[in-house]
Amino acid sequence: MKALRKLRAAPGLDLVETDTPAYGAHDVLIRVRKSAICGTDVHIYNWDDWAARTLPVPLTIGHEFVGTIAAVGAEVEGLGVGQRVSAEGHLTCGRCRNCRTGRAHICASTVGLGVQRPGCFAEYLALPARNVFPVPEGIPDRVAAFLDPLGNAVHTALSFDLAGEDVLVTGAGPIGVMATAIARHVGARRIVVTDVNDARLELARRVGADRAVNVARETLAPVLPALGIREGFDVVLEMSGQPPAITQALEVVRPGARLALLGIASGPVALPWNTLVFKGLELKGIYGREVFETWYKMTALLESGLDVTPVITHELPYTAYEEGFAAMRAGTSGKVILDWAGEKG
Ligand code: NAD
Ligand code: ZN
Repeated sequence: MKALRKLRAAPGLDLVETDTPAYGAHDVLIRVRKSAICGTDVHIYNWDDWAARTLPVPLTIGHEFVGTIAAVGAEVEGLGVGQRVSAEGHLTCGRCRNCRTGRAHICASTVGLGVQRPGCFAEYLALPARNVFPVPEGIPDRVAAFLDPLGNAVHTALSFDLAGEDVLVTGAGPIGVMATAIARHVGARRIVVTDVNDARLELARRVGADRAVNVARETLAPVLPALGIREGFDVVLEMSGQPPAITQALEVVRPGARLALLGIASGPVALPWNTLVFKGLELKGIYGREVFETWYKMTALLESGLDVTPVITHELPYTAYEEGFAAMRAGTSGKVILDWAGEKG
């Protein structure tokens, strides 16, 4: 089969012919239809310090996909050949306290698809059947290809009640844009999105942001009275991982505000500690997706009219992967979809 692999401990990727993965009694083999490029894949492409520390090479990368079950292991029940599926890309131990009490998303022994084991930038991938999530019929492949990061957005956005609340989204990357669409869908009052990139702020406007603020040029404070936000934002969805965005958010939240933190910072972040204390703020770190609660929620949201398609900026055949990675590396893209089956939809 064809696969996009990291063959050497150096920048770049190689499109090569490799063996179709073996699958065990509890696994399924999936024919990939479409996959999507994540920021993580860009770190791997660039071969930064994190990638060099984390990735075994050679490795087929990629973890966002939709495909069709091509074969099932002897012990697999309830899944069949031909079924359209995506999957939770975090493989967890199943034995630790968190795994056994419904919080597998914070299992300390998590193994990442396409990071620590062969991924989905390939014609086929193998996965434990328990990680598979059947995709409801009404959800098109071009959206099902990125349920993984949509799940990050849903997990973050639904962590706190947004109905009737004034919401600040810091960072309009693909996940921030999707979180904006979700906040609108579930009935937030005002939604303000910040970024330093105009192309991305435009995507946030398209999915329903009341104001998309380029914080490299504009301050946030005057935006609040202009939108009738009297006491500060009620909820923050932090989706940039940038210390200035976090500090800025703490200045414009009301006392008692809640902050859901998804963005990954590249190092320690200095916080105005007394602001956390005196404002009585509630902070929640968000990792991955709740397994499988987030998956049920996000497919239900899509089925009830949530539209995240404006975040799709590129749809390419897998052979044009360099073009897709170039768009991601330029920082102006939304989701970049790679097609592995020569199909539309
Ligand atoms: P991304 O890098 O595409 O988006 C981050 C955005 O933040 C960019 O558009 C960038 O221009 C913007 N930004 C930079 N400085 C800013 C500032 N001062 N104020 C506001 N915005 C600023 O990332 P993404 O794929 O959309 O993911 C969002 C974040 O979530 C990233 O930090 C990513 O690493 C992280 N992430 C976390 C998890 C998790 O499980 N916790 C999963 C996936 C992604
Ligand atoms: Zn575990």
